[in-house]
Amino acid sequence: MNTFSVINPATEQIIAEVPSISLAETDVAIETAANAFESWRRVAPGDRARLLRRFAALVDANLEPLAQLEVANAGHTISNARWEAGNVRDVLDYYAGAPERHTGLQIPVPGGVDITFREPLGVVGVIVPWNFPMPIAAWGFAPALAAGNTVILKPAEITPLTAMRLGELALEAGIPEGVFTVLTGKGSVVGWRFVTHQKVAKVCFTGSTEVGTQIMAGCAEQIKRVTLELGGKSANVVFADADLEMAAARAPYGVFDNAGQDCCARSRILVERSAYDRFMELLEPAVAGVVVGDPTLESTEMGPLVSSSQLEVVTSFVPDGAPVAFRGSCPTGPGFWFPPTVLAPVDPAAAVVTEEIFGPVVVVIPFEDEADAISIANDTSFGLSGSIWTRDVGRALRAARGIEAGNLSVNSHSSVRYWTPFGGFKRSGIGRELGPDALDSFTEVKNVFLATDD
Ligand code: NAP
Ligand code: MG
Repeated sequence: MNTFSVINPATEQIIAEVPSISLAETDVAIETAANAFESWRRVAPGDRARLLRRFAALVDANLEPLAQLEVANAGHTISNARWEAGNVRDVLDYYAGAPERHTGLQIPVPGGVDITFREPLGVVGVIVPWNFPMPIAAWGFAPALAAGNTVILKPAEITPLTAMRLGELALEAGIPEGVFTVLTGKGSVVGWRFVTHQKVAKVCFTGSTEVGTQIMAGCAEQIKRVTLELGGKSANVVFADADLEMAAARAPYGVFDNAGQDCCARSRILVERSAYDRFMELLEPAVAGVVVGDPTLESTEMGPLVSSSQLEVVTSFVPDGAPVAFRGSCPTGPGFWFPPTVLAPVDPAAAVVTEEIFGPVVVVIPFEDEADAISIANDTSFGLSGSIWTRDVGRALRAARGIEAGNLSVNSHSSVRYWTPFGGFKRSGIGRELGPDALDSFTEVKNVFLATDD
C-alpha cells in the first residue's frame, strides 16, 4: 500500500505513516457511501440525532488526545487545539438538534394541499485544508449527516491525523459503516474524484481560491452542488476615535493567530491617518509580546508554519529589503518558524497587499476618512471577514454594511460561532456554513401537491 509521511512542523520529526488512498479505493468508498445513504436517510430523525449526540460525547471524552494530535500534526498551540476539538463537539451537538426540527412548509393552494420536504442529497464529499483540520471538517460533515446524507471526508494530505481519529469515533458512537468515511490521500486523486464521480451529489470544499475555482468548474459538468470557502485578505479598520490601546493590543491576534494560516486573518490593518503614528507606537510592543514557540506549552500564542513549503511561500513575500516596520521573535533550530512581521509603508499594488500570504505577515495602510477606509477595504477580490474599531455606533454600522465581506466584527476580531452563518463574498467563496441555515445547503426542496377535490 502507498503511504505518505506525516511530519511534526515544530520538530520536523516524522510522526506517522498514513495510507495514500488510490483512485480505485476512492471509487469503492463512494459506492459504499451511496449504498449506506439508502438506509441512513431512513433512520428516524430522533435516532439520527441520538447517534450524532453520542458522537459529540465521544469527541468530548477524547478532547485532550484530539488536541494533542493536532498540536503534533499541525503545530497548533495547545490552547487553540483544545478550542478546535471543542468546536467539533459543539458543531455536532448543535446539528444533533436538527433532524427533528428540519421541517418543510404547508402552502395554501386551491383544490388540495401543498407541502414541501427537505430531501437529503446523497453522498457529500467534504474536502478540508490543513489550516484548521478539525473544525472545517465538522462544519461540513455535521450538518450533512444531520440532514440525512452520507459523507466522505478528505483531509489535507499533510494533516490527516485528527480526521482519521474522528472517523473511528463516529463508528464507536454507532454511526453505521459507510455513513461517514475518512479517505486520506492526494487532492488531485481522492479530492478530484469527488468532483468527477456521478454518485457524489455535492462537494463542500475549503482551501485555496485557485483549487476552488477548478472544483467549481469541474462540478459544473454535472451541475453538482458545491459550497466553497476560499481565501481572504481581510481588513482591520481602525478609526481615530477607537480605543487605540485596545485596537493595537488585539491587532496581532487578529492576524497572527494560527501563525497567520487563517482564511479570516486580518492581514491588512487600515489606520486613520491622524492616529497612524500613535497606533504604530502601540502596535510595536504588542507584536513583540506575541509568545512564539513550542506549541505544546500553555503559554505559547503562536506556533510554527505547517510545512517547509508553506515556510518557503511566506518567506518569498518578505525578501531582503522588504519594508519591515518591526517584527516579533521566533525560535531557531528545527521547525518551520517565521516571526510575526509588520510591513509598512507598502506600495498598494505590491503582492503583500493584494495576495493572501497565509503566514504571520501584516501590512499597515493609512486612510483619510470613512469613505476612503471602505474603498481600500473593498479593493480586493476577496471578501471573507474584517474588523472595525470605532466608538461611533453609527460609523461602525455604516462601515459594516459598506465592507463587502461575509463576517464582520466591531471592536473585536471574532469570526466564527457555530450557531451563526459563516462564508465569503466575491472570490472568498460561495454558500454559507454553520448557523441555522446550513442544513438547507445539504438538502433539496421538494414540493408535493395532493389533490383533495373529487
Ligand atoms: P489547496 O491546494 O486548495 O488544498 C485544500 C484541499 O484541497 C486539500 O485537502 C487538498 O488536498 C485538496 N486539493 C488540492 N488539489 C485538489 C484538486 N485538484 N481536486 C480536489 N481537491 C484538491 O490549498 P493548499 O495547497 O493547502 O494551500 C495553498 C494556499 O491556499 C494557502 O497558502 C492559502 O493561501 C490558501 N488556503 C486557504 C484556506 C482557507 O481556509 N481559505 C485553507 C488552506 C489554504 P492535498 O492537501 O492532499 O493536496
Ligand atoms: Mg495545494
